[in-house]
Amino acid sequence: MIGKPWTVRFYPKKKFAQKYPGTLGVCLGWKRQIRLPLRGLKEETVAHELTHAMLHEMCVTSTDSLRREELEEVFCEMWAKFGVDMLMLADQIWTEYQRRRA
Ligand SMILES: [Zn+2]
Repeated sequence: MIGKPWTVRFYPKKKFAQKYPGTLGVCLGWKRQIRLPLRGLKEETVAHELTHAMLHEMCVTSTDSLRREELEEVFCEMWAKFGVDMLMLADQIWTEYQRRRA
């Protein structure tokens, strides 16, 4: 993600639900790791967690005082620069998820 290595870990669905109740996926920025359940995953969740990873690398998550307009600019810039790459990456992860389920 933006040149930094991230890893994706798939967890058995039950273990994932115990570890992260009520969540569909998890992005651990300090570990540069995305954790996903091995069952019941949606492709949209993969893109969602990748967006968290992207925002982490852009250092946006370390502020709590961004105005709405500023946040909008960050998102627009992010999608303009990295949107295609992010969706291609989400598709690769989704393909790996489907391969492991087979
Ligand atoms: Zn989220």
